[in-house]
Amino acid sequence: MVELNAPQAQAVAHPSGPLLVFAGAGSGKTRVITFRIANLVAREGVSAHRILAVTFTNKAARELRSRLEGLLGEDLARRLWVGTFHSLGAKLLRLHGGTIGLKKDFAIYDGTDQKALIARILKDLAIDSKEYAPKALLGQIGHYKQQNIRVDALAADSAHMKVVQQVWAQYEARLRTANALDFEDILLRGGELLDEELRLGVVGVRERFDHILVDEFQDTNGTQYRWLKGLAHFHRNLCVVGDDDQSIYGWRGADVRNIQSFRRDHPDAEVVKLEQNYRSTARIVEAALAIVAKTTVREPKKLWTENEAGEPIHVVELPDERAEATFALRCIRDALDEGASPADFAVFYRLHAQSRVLEDALRTARVAYKVIGGTRFYERAEVKDALAYLRLALNPSSDVDFLRVVNVPARGIGDTTVERLASRAKRLGKVLFEALDNLEDEGTIAPAARRKLEAFRALINGFQRAITEDTPSAFVDRVLEATGYRKSLEKEDSVEADARLGNLEELRSALLDFERECSLRGEDPTIATWLENAALHSEADNAAGEAVSMMTVHAAKGLEFPYVILTGMEEQLFPYRGLDPGERDELDEERRLAYVAITRARERLVCTHVRARQLFGQTRVGIESRFLRELPRSTTERFRVNSFGRLTPAAHQGRSAETSRRVDARVDTSYFSDVNHGEAFDDDSAMRPGSMVRHGTFGPGRVRSLERRGQEVAAQVEFATFGVKTVYVRFLVDDE
Ligand code: ATP
Ligand code: MG
Repeated sequence: MVELNAPQAQAVAHPSGPLLVFAGAGSGKTRVITFRIANLVAREGVSAHRILAVTFTNKAARELRSRLEGLLGEDLARRLWVGTFHSLGAKLLRLHGGTIGLKKDFAIYDGTDQKALIARILKDLAIDSKEYAPKALLGQIGHYKQQNIRVDALAADSAHMKVVQQVWAQYEARLRTANALDFEDILLRGGELLDEELRLGVVGVRERFDHILVDEFQDTNGTQYRWLKGLAHFHRNLCVVGDDDQSIYGWRGADVRNIQSFRRDHPDAEVVKLEQNYRSTARIVEAALAIVAKTTVREPKKLWTENEAGEPIHVVELPDERAEATFALRCIRDALDEGASPADFAVFYRLHAQSRVLEDALRTARVAYKVIGGTRFYERAEVKDALAYLRLALNPSSDVDFLRVVNVPARGIGDTTVERLASRAKRLGKVLFEALDNLEDEGTIAPAARRKLEAFRALINGFQRAITEDTPSAFVDRVLEATGYRKSLEKEDSVEADARLGNLEELRSALLDFERECSLRGEDPTIATWLENAALHSEADNAAGEAVSMMTVHAAKGLEFPYVILTGMEEQLFPYRGLDPGERDELDEERRLAYVAITRARERLVCTHVRARQLFGQTRVGIESRFLRELPRSTTERFRVNSFGRLTPAAHQGRSAETSRRVDARVDTSYFSDVNHGEAFDDDSAMRPGSMVRHGTFGPGRVRSLERRGQEVAAQVEFATFGVKTVYVRFLVDDE
């Protein structure tokens, strides 16, 4: 096996001074970084602890480190400085921060800490937190800090901005008093440290490393770039690798012009271009290039591969997002039957909120999965809060759930009150909820606090009555309303709050799906059954070893998988932004994002789009994404899944659709084995009364009758062991 091609070897052997590796996806950029580090240590005699390598995500950093362990052995690899900007920055500030008056043991505030700090400041300054939501203020402050704007330099030209400035100034002052830094500070203070060293003429951090290497350079922002330049100040051994076609963090202050700045700042830099893709089949490379070629601003570069053409990319149209999830599951299962491992699979989506339906399909089928760079749907804070209310309504003795929500959303029940209630419960030998009875006898709890606790008890009592009457989805709605949970998020009015509201809508949709499925099975949908399933599944998940990876496309950067399923390829979802005239930049970024998504796949790529999608509690009509329509015909094969779950070849879409030729599907993938080739296909004739079928849970049976229900078709089936049941046809497979 050739380990390195000529330009890769050139970049690896580059002796010293600035180096720019500029290349397309899968061409070995990360491999160059890895081999270059190994070469510096093993051949050039550079001490491992004097090499700093920066990557973009923790996952990428772990990956890099494990590859280096393979090349150098654990001992040497451990001494290297490998990490993200934040983790490395924090580590350096602990060692050198004294120069700018930082104490070694500073704390790092995360989102929750920051929010608590802002809330306290608002209270002290008597500013209405309804008018100035902490989350929104934090977002604004973070944005300024990323732009390297200082609080005293802020143009406070309106009443609103004056408040922002006042809060921000307090925020900075209190961070300092608390000896704490937020994430932005890590980089800003790092920059300050470099400036201060320069002013004092001391070396310190600027002299710490002999080589600096940066992966995914296209997504660094201005502050990060200044920091890198400072660290490489003396030796200028700065090696950056990147691909402007993969710049996907414009909204986070990342700046693709960094690659241009690098060339300007280092006119003597050696520039190496890598043009051979080693990762993907020729069809995948060609498809990805077709999409990114249309961006308006782009550095010209080549990308080719010697790899085989490979399977066609499957573009599959489905009725809705649930059918899409079932189909994704089917692709995965068929490959598992062929001997693939769950770890070979990645399922991508544009938005976190899309994951719920996909997760449900995998959970129900007991296929292990993990969510990369995000939280599994049922573990997200707001979903857990809602579940805690549901459990509490069913079983008020659950102290864990009681404690989770007694003051969520904030209803003025403080920690002291809760502690006193807990001692009372202990004294009486009761659970917390029962300890709420006869509170007037409790001397330690003041009347104001008592009234709040009693109101909480009344709230839960109300839920206990309603849970037997409401449908599960209506009950969740009731909980979100009556607790004020939804309203408190609406008031926050921030991007994060919107995402949380979206997740709660998804939870409602999950219960609606559950109700629909129960009614088809003739079962009574109860919250208790649903919760039981949810609990069971999460236990099964924890036992998992190898798992399917699920993630947003953003989180997929730098990774690769043999099989990729790219879901939700619809207009207004992917591309998500840039649809209005004048938003070319946004559309360009969506294109680059699609390029990133496609180039993650090594062998097999399946792209799905649906005709109707429920998302954020709303149904939208699905129109196939322009990105799929732009794929060259030679790279794709198109299919359509009807409401029976049946797969048929479909005509090519897009500009040349007039000539719509029938696809001669010759696919060796087994999930295509039931493709109905050639003959005209009538949606509703595929499965007839009398057809032998098989259901995942109920086993074999015979169809008695069929009936259309909205978008779907339901079948009455006589099962061999379970008797007559009505089920959606998409849950059935042909058994003839
Ligand atoms: P991305 O732009 O997605 O970050 P990249 O340019 O960093 O991609 P790598 O991840 O380094 O690319 O390499 C892609 C794949 O090709 C990896 O599996 C890597 O091992 C393989 N590869 C790279 N160069 C060679 C080579 N010369 N010979 C064999 N395999 C190679
Ligand atoms: Mg890479």
